[in-house]
Amino acid sequence: AADARRYDRVLLKISGEALMGPQGYGLHPPTVARIAAEVKSVHELGVEICMVIGGGNIFRGLSGSAQGMERTTADYMGMLATVMNALALQSALEELGIHTRVISAIPMDQVCEPYIRRRAVRHLEKKRVCIFAAGTGNPYFTTDTAATLRASEMHCQAIFKGTKVDGVYDSDPKLNPDAQRYARITYDEVLQRHLGVMDASAIALARDNDLPIIVFSLDEPGGFRGILAGEGTFTIVH
Ligand code: UDP
Repeated sequence: AADARRYDRVLLKISGEALMGPQGYGLHPPTVARIAAEVKSVHELGVEICMVIGGGNIFRGLSGSAQGMERTTADYMGMLATVMNALALQSALEELGIHTRVISAIPMDQVCEPYIRRRAVRHLEKKRVCIFAAGTGNPYFTTDTAATLRASEMHCQAIFKGTKVDGVYDSDPKLNPDAQRYARITYDEVLQRHLGVMDASAIALARDNDLPIIVFSLDEPGGFRGILAGEGTFTIVH
C-alpha cells in the first residue's frame, strides 16, 4: 500500500451520475460526501489531485438537442451543470478540511476562479485540490476530453476514471455474465473495438500525450486509494 507514493500528481475523472447516488437525477449529498472522503484518503498521502466532474446527472447537451434545443446552447447548459457539481464537491471537501479551488473554463468570477494554467499549477503545489469545471469551455466536447486536456496541461502522471464497473470489458458485464475484463489495453484497441471507456477524442488526446488512463470502480469503499497503490481490479489503457 505504501507504493501510492509513486504518483505525485493525478487527475480523478468522475461522471456527474456518480454524484446522484440511488436517485435518478441531481445531487445526493451522502454520495458526494463519500466521494470527498475517497479524495481525502489520497490527499493524505501527499498526492496532488486534480478533478474533473461531468454534468450528466443534471444536463447533457445531446439530450437537450434531441428535444429541439440548439446544440451549442444545450452544450453550454451541460457545462454549467458541471460547475454546480464542482461546487457541491468543493463544499464536501472543505467540510473535511481539504483546501479546494474550483477553476472554470468559462469565467464566472463571483462563483469560482477562471482557468489560468500557471495559477492552477501553483494551487496543486500548495496541495489544494483543483476541480476543473465547465469542461473545455467549448461545445461539442465532453468532460472526458476536458479531463485529458487538463491532465496533460497539469502534467499529471495518469487519469483515474472512476466508474460503476471495475475496468474495461469486452462486452457489458451488466448484460453479459461471461464478459472479460482487460487488465491492460492499448488506446488503439479501445478505438478499434469501440469500447465505451471514454469518447474517441479523449482517447486520441490521451494517446498523443502518452497519458495512461486507469479505469476502476468508484463504488468500492477505499477504491481510489487502493488503486493508486496498485491494489484491486482495474484496467490500464496505455
Ligand atoms: N460539455 C461541453 N463541452 C465540454 C464538456 C462538456 O459542451 O468541454 C457539455 C456537453 O453538453 C455534455 C455536458 O456538458 O453533455 C456534460 O458533460 P458530460 O456529458 O461529459 O458529463 P458526464 O457524462 O461525465 O456526466
